[in-house]
Amino acid sequence: MRNRSLALAAGLATGALVLAGCGGDSGSGSGGSEAEPTVAEAPEFPEGSTMAEIADAGSMNIGTKYDQPGFGLLNLEEVPEGFDVRIAEYIAGQMGVAPEDISWTEAPSAQREELIASGDVDMVVATYTINDERRERVTFAGPYYVAGQQILVAQDNDVITSPEDLTDNPDQVVCSVTGSTPAENIRQYLASPDQLVEFGVYEDCISALDNGQVQAVTTDNVILTGFVAESDGAYKLVGEQFTEEPYGIGIEKGDVEFCQFINDALQQAADEGYYEEAWTETAGQFEGTEVPELPEPDECV
Ligand code: GLU
Repeated sequence: MRNRSLALAAGLATGALVLAGCGGDSGSGSGGSEAEPTVAEAPEFPEGSTMAEIADAGSMNIGTKYDQPGFGLLNLEEVPEGFDVRIAEYIAGQMGVAPEDISWTEAPSAQREELIASGDVDMVVATYTINDERRERVTFAGPYYVAGQQILVAQDNDVITSPEDLTDNPDQVVCSVTGSTPAENIRQYLASPDQLVEFGVYEDCISALDNGQVQAVTTDNVILTGFVAESDGAYKLVGEQFTEEPYGIGIEKGDVEFCQFINDALQQAADEGYYEEAWTETAGQFEGTEVPELPEPDECV
């Protein structure tokens, strides 16, 4: 998986250079960024809290995506960068953990709950839709962004212009990722289950589109926008978004104190202008995106 991610990162080097182009060298994990997270000095937390544990350790483990331009994509130094990474760095900074003291783990869609439940990571920031099924295993802070599902096709595909066109054209095959909400949502539009191909990560769906194995890829609009932007005109987005995907930060089930701390950190990131800057320098670089406003947090449960 790591090699495939690297191959994609290398293939996207031009885009990565554009993204990093106007930034100086921040020395941070996100490479050439301008929005620097504040790193708290000797912050104090209630004894026994997750925040106290992380602050004492001076380091933390975070899961993110490695193949999604704009949100979480491995750069040529093998460090992920994108909006999710910046959000995670800010939260870590509030516990006194500098970007270079974060250990990153790839968190493919189907592995996120397990990575959290096993304690392999302290949190997952990975285009992670909050929903009730996932809430059975995970506590979510946020949301910090609301995406929506859409469809990507090759530029010359005039058959698919909406999810309903999949019902009417059973020869058109769509790809999504195992364990993702879009893979589940799309099923209701299919004439037969064979119309859906699932892989472990989105870059494999893009490869399948390139080699004609599938005719469409579906997931959140902001993820697809990144692939369109990097495709040099080869792909396009079609139709409107047809779901709402509120992105949360997944942490150990029941850690309400940590969840509330993260929500406060998100609010502070917005108040300081970091949230907007982080967006503008990452996913906001892609055409068709708008600067979001931080949504109201859900209750921590
Ligand atoms: N937001 C959706 C989800 O959490 C799709 C993106 C992804 O697979 O990470 O399933």
